[in-house]
Amino acid sequence: MNRFSGTLHLPGDESFEEACLGRVFNARRPTDRRPAAVLEARTEADVVEGVRLALERGWQVAVRSGGHSWAAWSVRGDALLIDLGGFREMAYDPDTRIATATPSVKGGDELNPFLSGFGRFFNGGHCPSVGIGGFLLQGGQGWNARGWGWAAENIVAIDVVTAEGELVRADETHHSDLFWAARGAGPGFFGVVTRFHLRTRPLPGHLAHTVHAYPLDLFDEVMTWLHEAHHTVSDLVEIVAVTQGLPEYDEHVLLVTGLSFTDTPEQAAEALAPLHANPYADRALFRVEATPTTLAEQIHGQREANPESHRYFVDNAWLTGSASDVVPAIRKAFTEHPTPQTFTIWFSMAPLRGLPDMAFSLQSEIYCATYVVHDGPERDAELRAWLDEAMAAMQPVTAGQYLGDSDFTVRQLKFMGDEQWRRLQEIRAVRDPKGLFAGYLSAGAVTNTNHWEQ
Ligand SMILES: Cc1cc2nc3c(=O)[nH]c(=O)nc-3n(C[C@H](O)[C@H](O)[C@H](O)COP(=O)(O)OP(=O)(O)OC[C@H]3O[C@@H](n4cnc5c(N)ncnc54)[C@H](O)[C@@H]3O)c2cc1C
Repeated sequence: MNRFSGTLHLPGDESFEEACLGRVFNARRPTDRRPAAVLEARTEADVVEGVRLALERGWQVAVRSGGHSWAAWSVRGDALLIDLGGFREMAYDPDTRIATATPSVKGGDELNPFLSGFGRFFNGGHCPSVGIGGFLLQGGQGWNARGWGWAAENIVAIDVVTAEGELVRADETHHSDLFWAARGAGPGFFGVVTRFHLRTRPLPGHLAHTVHAYPLDLFDEVMTWLHEAHHTVSDLVEIVAVTQGLPEYDEHVLLVTGLSFTDTPEQAAEALAPLHANPYADRALFRVEATPTTLAEQIHGQREANPESHRYFVDNAWLTGSASDVVPAIRKAFTEHPTPQTFTIWFSMAPLRGLPDMAFSLQSEIYCATYVVHDGPERDAELRAWLDEAMAAMQPVTAGQYLGDSDFTVRQLKFMGDEQWRRLQEIRAVRDPKGLFAGYLSAGAVTNTNHWEQ
């Protein structure tokens, strides 16, 4: 008798390859690893049965929600891949203002349109197709993380299938060790989350943005100014500097952007004003200042920057230090892009907010990530080498990395505080003593250390 309402794909099935890789966002897919089987789960009961099947067969368990892990963490050898893509449910309780959603729900394409019907909002990932599952487990740098904090701070409970194949609810008081770990362990989490219970916020009343575009030969001057100024900007403004190509320019340009989440145009103008005081503003290629925008327009921009069916190499660093140290260290990553679609972001988290007690525990005032976007495999080695060089130049000002844009098979950095890392391992030893869950995908032991400090 079939024990699943979803579908189990086995090696040799015509559908197997598509089930393994079809939902992986990055077109640069793994060639050297395939799961033992793929379960397309449709219900919580499927997930429970899937974990039990893996226990019976001696397989590990890997999980896929939105499929957006750049390094395809869900594709693991000798594991049952539990794919939650066909298990999509959302609900909202107007009394508690808590939303519940299954992990494959897409933050921008699905959860926010649903919540907007209730006048509510969740600070999910910028790219609308990112699944909330992997995003929340690693912390979740959503809209205005600078002011609203990490998306995982809004998790009030999770439903999770444990390594013993039991479905439990974990929150601050029940199974609190699982609740603590789920907010930051990322792919090192030892359970399958089947549902998130999320605190929502009011839909922002007025969105406005400022965009100053500069030629790259002003990179040092503008970024030095921004390095000194970003702490002073209202925490209702998301501040991102990005170098990227624009259709109307032959060369990549530096965009210094502010997106304000206020209630009125007057508040937006005041919140964004410090960005207009840039002393190089009169040398900008163009300027948009405190102009009304919409989430749909912003999301469109994200989708354009992150096209589907392309190959990506991505790497990142938490930066620390003075402008005179940081700006030269990041110059290569921002000004020497190897393909037209490559882009690099500088994302302000300043002034740094404190974090609640959870596994996610490493951040700095500036987040920097480079996304090398390209087509065929011919340039893979060259492009990865370029990215390695760009990241190596940042080493002197790098405090660690964010899991969301990392790939431990290539480069390991610190991603958690030492105390939190120790605690995570202790909890894992109790919750998953036999290593049922595949854990971090890496080329060697995961040490939570910057590789040049080992
Ligand atoms: C185009 C694009 C834009 C992005 N933008 C942002 C952004 O704005 N902010 C940000 O923080 N990140 C961003 N990311 C990174 C993204 O958040 C991570 O790659 C995240 O892991 C994706 O989650 P997912 O569920 O889609 O991925 P998946 O590949 O499905 O999951 C990644 C891993 O997380 C674990 N996992 C996922 N779901 C579960 C579950 N239910 N139970 C247990 N473990 C689970 C598994 O180990 C899984 O292999 C972006 C990625 C892409 C491709």
